[in-house]
Amino acid sequence: MSRTIRESLAVWPEGVIARHLTKAAEITGDPTITVDVTETGDKVRAACRGCGADHLNSIAYSRMTVEPWAQDHAESCRALPRPEGS
Ligand SMILES: [Zn+2]
Repeated sequence: MSRTIRESLAVWPEGVIARHLTKAAEITGDPTITVDVTETGDKVRAACRGCGADHLNSIAYSRMTVEPWAQDHAESCRALPRPEGS
């Protein structure tokens, strides 16, 4: 396992409260392709690190709507992130 992959599993960026492995991550074995759910104040946002799709909800308790989106998106997304430097 590469150092980059180990670090991505061990260290979550600040504010990330949930991380869903995408279909692409399962296929490629690259656990860095995730949908991250981030909470900032009362706003919750999910963002796919594969295709860049995101889902934002700024109402109270919005995690209840963002989490299912993140789960559903991760289960179906086969997009690969653009390699760094290209
Ligand atoms: Zn995606």
